[in-house]
Amino acid sequence: MNKRQFIGVKTTKIYCRPSCPAKAPLPDNIVHFKTAGQAEFNGYRACKRCFPDFPVEHWDDGINSVFLRLPKDFDFGKCLKFLARSPAEPCHLVNQKTLYKALKFEDDPILLKIQLQNKKSLSIEFLTKRPKKSIRAKVAKYVWNWFDLDTNLKPFYQMAKSDPVLNHIADTCYGLRIVSIPDLFEATCWAVMGQHINLNFAYTLKKRFVESFGERFHIDDRVFYLFPTPEMIAKQTVSRFRKLQFTEKKSEYVIEIAKKMRDGILSKKALLKKDSFKLVKKELMRLHGVGKWTTEYVCLRCLKDPTAFPVDDVGLQNAIQRQLRLSAKPAVDEIYKFSRRWKNWEAYATFYLWNSLM
Ligand SMILES: [Zn+2]
Repeated sequence: MNKRQFIGVKTTKIYCRPSCPAKAPLPDNIVHFKTAGQAEFNGYRACKRCFPDFPVEHWDDGINSVFLRLPKDFDFGKCLKFLARSPAEPCHLVNQKTLYKALKFEDDPILLKIQLQNKKSLSIEFLTKRPKKSIRAKVAKYVWNWFDLDTNLKPFYQMAKSDPVLNHIADTCYGLRIVSIPDLFEATCWAVMGQHINLNFAYTLKKRFVESFGERFHIDDRVFYLFPTPEMIAKQTVSRFRKLQFTEKKSEYVIEIAKKMRDGILSKKALLKKDSFKLVKKELMRLHGVGKWTTEYVCLRCLKDPTAFPVDDVGLQNAIQRQLRLSAKPAVDEIYKFSRRWKNWEAYATFYLWNSLM
């Protein structure tokens, strides 16, 4: 990531890719950024001709849809199966081979219908009013990131082929991508909610949380929810969450996280601007209720740290036990031994192992 790939124009506060077809700015007016995130953090907006934050090679613009150009090793069905793992999930809907998701950009709600067009293309249809092009690009980018389509999985499969823990599941889960939770607030709240309880009850809590505080849209007899905003949660009291069966501690934690995000003390952009994930983790661990497991979980599902590795996760331990037919759950130091060859693929190994239990 040392290449300075983005060019910001100081006078217009717009940033471009070097290949932008627009007229070249004067050298004096230029500032360079390593990442699109860094440009945005500094108050620059993406150019509407070259979409530096989402290259045009990845998507095609249609009349009422946008299309993602898919990498070969992507299995939408397997990602859908993961997304459909609980009927209580309030933030998206899977109906057979179709995924529905509500999002909001620039104050306008957008409902998406996402399905495979063919092996090479994922179609994202707008069921609400067709948004303008810059928003269409943002939607395409959102779905691209949601399914982690940037990652080249070849080296992972290469490694997994001869790995005793992973070789079988690398086959059965082939094409599965880490299904991310792009919103930091949602990812952190979800991780906190899920602490010390089973997955079913975690989904029950999430459903109550979203239905109580999330914005809702009625579209064709159906109700769609957005995950609640930090602003909304920050102004609630502990007793409001106690009624939803949150513990007192969890109630305090989500309110504190909401306040920090509302006040800009915690943000995804600022975290991703840090020099290393080690520093990101240090920052997250400073939050009350966010320990090692929660930090690794958030890094895995939201921040795309390829080395995120929640070693003390019970599901991970169960899955390894099953793959190796061990008589007991492996201890943490054993898991580190098993994972020696996974360097930089710990997150994918974990996600595949979780899925092997489904
Ligand atoms: Zn441009």
